[in-house]
This record gives sequence, C-alpha cells and structure tokens, in this order.
Amino acid sequence: MIAARSFPGKTVAVFGLARTGLASVRALKAGGARVVAWDDNSAARDAGVGAGAEIAPWREWNWDGIAALILSPGVPLTHPAPHEVVIHAKAAHVPVIGDVELFAREIRPVATQPGRAPVIAITGTNGKSTTTALLGHILASAGFDAQVGGNIGKPVLELAQPGPKTIYVLEMSSFQIDLTPGLHPNVALLSNLTPDHIDRHGSMENYAAIKERLLRQVPKDGHVIVGVDDTHSAAIFTALAASGGAAATPVAVGKVLGRGVFAVDGALYDAQGQRTSDVMALTEAPRLPGAHNWQNIALAYAAARIFIKDTRVIVSAIASFPGLAHRMEEVGHIGRTRFINDSKATNADATARALACYPDIFWIAGGKAKEGGIASLAEYFPHIRKAYLIGDAANTFAQTLDGRVAHVMSGTLDKAVEEAAADAASSNAPMPVVLLSPASASYDQFRDFEQRGDVFRTLVAKLPQDAGRKDSRAVS
Ligand code: ADP
Repeated sequence: MIAARSFPGKTVAVFGLARTGLASVRALKAGGARVVAWDDNSAARDAGVGAGAEIAPWREWNWDGIAALILSPGVPLTHPAPHEVVIHAKAAHVPVIGDVELFAREIRPVATQPGRAPVIAITGTNGKSTTTALLGHILASAGFDAQVGGNIGKPVLELAQPGPKTIYVLEMSSFQIDLTPGLHPNVALLSNLTPDHIDRHGSMENYAAIKERLLRQVPKDGHVIVGVDDTHSAAIFTALAASGGAAATPVAVGKVLGRGVFAVDGALYDAQGQRTSDVMALTEAPRLPGAHNWQNIALAYAAARIFIKDTRVIVSAIASFPGLAHRMEEVGHIGRTRFINDSKATNADATARALACYPDIFWIAGGKAKEGGIASLAEYFPHIRKAYLIGDAANTFAQTLDGRVAHVMSGTLDKAVEEAAADAASSNAPMPVVLLSPASASYDQFRDFEQRGDVFRTLVAKLPQDAGRKDSRAVS
C-alpha cells in the first residue's frame, strides 16, 4: 500500500466507499489524516468503518475543517450536473480530487531519484485495459517490477511502494483525469477517441479536452504516444507535436507513417529511428486478434521501447500475452462453432471492431442502451447472419436492423445463447462465431460487464457438446 501523507493531522472527506474510496481511506489513515466519509449504500459504509473512516452523512460535514474531498470517479463532477456534495465543497473552497491525485503526490514520477519511479498513464475511449495489461506484461517480461492498476485491477493506492525497478502502469478513465490535476506522468498514451459517456462529459469536445489535459501534464522530458486513426486524436497529436512539449510519437493502423509506429498488412513497423524496421508479424500474437488489437500492440510497443532497448524482448512478450477476459475471449468451441466473449464492448465502436473480425456471426447484443445506438455498425451488417437481442436496448436495436439483418428478440442472455448456438450449428457457415459483443452497458440485467461475460461463459459451458459433434459429422 502507498500511504497518502499530504494531510497529516488534517481531516479529509471521502465520498463514495467502493474500491478506490476504501483504498483512499486506508492510505489517508496510514498517512496520519482523520477521515470522515459517506456512501449511500449501508454495506459500503460498514466497509468504510472497517477501513478506519468516521461515517457521517455528508450534509452534516463541517466544511470549514475539511482539507480536501476525495470523490469517487463514479460520482458526477460536472455533468449532467455536479453532485450536491461537489457544489458544497466548491462553495467552501475545498479542493475536489481523486485517489490517483493522492498517489501522484506520493510518487513523483522522476526516475532518477531514489524512492521515485516512472509513471505511465494510459487513456482513450477503447483499448485502455488491453494496452495497460499488455504493457505491464512486456515490462515484467523485461525484468521490471511493473505495478499495474488504476481503472484496471488494483486501485493505485494499493500498488506496492516504489523499488529500484518499479514502473507504474496506470489506466486512467476520463473521470479519473478530471480529478487528477497533479499527475505528471513520464509517459502518457492516448489510444483513440470516439463518443462514449458523453452524458457525463457534456460534449465530445469536452470529453476530448479532458483526455488532452492528461497528455499536456507530461513534462517536457517525457513522452506522449497517440493513436492517430480518428480525427479527434489526430488533432490532439498535431497540437501537442506543435507545442514543443514532450516528445510525441504517432501510432497508426492501416497506414504507413514517415515517423512513428504503425501496423500495415498484419505486420508491425517502427519508424522512430533513421530507418523503418519490420518488428513482427502480428499473427505471432494469437490472443490479440483484429486490427483494434494491432493498435493496442503498436501503442504498448511504442511505450515499451522507451524503457527496453532490445526489441526481441518486447516481441516475445507480445507473443506470449495471455489476453484479457471479456475482450474477444474465446470461451468455447463446439463442432465448427466458436464462442467469443466480448462483454467489455459497451459501446458501438468497440463492437464494430469485433464484428470486423469474423465473416459469419451469430451476434448477441443489447443491454442498457447508450446514445447513438448501432446505426454506425451498418458497414458490418453483411458479417451478421442473425442477431439475438437482449435487454433494454433490444427494441431500438431491432428498429435499426429491420429489413437489413435477421434478428430475434431473445430478451435474456440464456435464451440468446441457446438460440444462437442452435442456429450456428445448423447453418452452412464454415466457421460460425457466436459473439457476445453487446454495444451496450450491462447494468439493466447484470451487475457489470464482468458478470455478464461470466454468465455467458457458464452458459456456453453448459451447452450440449453432442450438437456440435453431430453437426461436424454432418459437414464431414
Ligand atoms: P477499455 O479499457 O478502454 O474499455 P478494453 O481493452 O477493455 O478497453 O477493450 C474494451 C472493448 O473495446 C473490447 O470490446 C475490445 O474488444 C474493444 N477494443 C479493444 N481495443 C480497442 C481499440 N484499440 N479500438 C477499438 N476497440 C477496442
């Protein structure tokens, strides 16, 4: 654990006692602060007491005696409207920050000083977790103590204290960036920018500006690495490269760059030095399928290159990456049919990447609808044999698919798996894929995307194997 020592003897308020809130309480207590906290959920409040907080309803807090408010990234800071606790804190001139800010005040990202360690921060609409985990895996393979956390895995304050070989690899959501003005990472990566969570950011421009802010917080001797395949990210890259700040490396998929890192025709190229070198064939990374994962590989490679001179070490680590659950994860194979769990695809752009990967898809989609729907997926409709719609979004998705893609209102995931598996087995497709890639959030029917993916995996495991065997005999 990393103790938060910037408030000794002072009172700090923590609002929201989920994972990061509890980690903040523990870290603040260890650093000598008094912590007053609140969460609307009584079980969370009990956990807060266990962590050492004094529980009091936030409306009863004495703002005059509070040095800072640690806000959970799930609580609205600005949009659609600031939570009332934020309004009260600001009126009392109490700074509103997050757990990563507490981390940043302890771990000054200066590699050359003892007790300090480099920090790599990763953000973007999609690909953050994959890139973060992949980069952590590469650095660990090269002998670094890669401490991976933030929006993935452990809260940052639960990571280990820095040692001589420590590198912190942090996934940062835009909500966390908003609460972290004091993080100056040595390296920051932006994967891509497409509309998501716009309700919580007001507009696409504001969303992009928050991501850009993190890159601008990188000091002059640091590095920024930007996926330039979408217009918003490309504009940010151009502005940063022109600003004379940190060294900026562009990363692209499907186009050759004169300078930067790029993937074309299934191979990764490094054009950062004098000559362009052919780094690896991307088929060597079987757990990272699809062009979207090539973007993640290229981003992680560019960051790893700053710390690891021998590219062979990086290449073999990319090839041995085990993959992440719920992102294009193969969870079963019955007869000719493969079952792919892409439950993490909570927006249309993420789902587009999955639909692009296979020609004969039996597609399970729907959940808690998001703005924009699935109209943007039209170019991939020819890949879909049939869609199995579930959750709140089923009706609106059906309207978009009407007359263009065969679909059925399955309603629930168990029904959808059963129907899709049967249709795939009896189809004439040579390699049918049953794909859960919902293009929606999960919380209408599930606790979170992990639970949705776990249920899918269990349902697939329970499917009769003989349907597949019969089916494979039928085609042989
Ligand atoms: P994040 O942490 O940003 O949500 P993940 O790595 O967890 O990103 O992937 C989320 C979803 O987006 C998955 O469905 C995955 O298949 C898809 N995805 C992964 N990387 C990319 C990318 N570079 N561009 C677009 N979609 C991606």
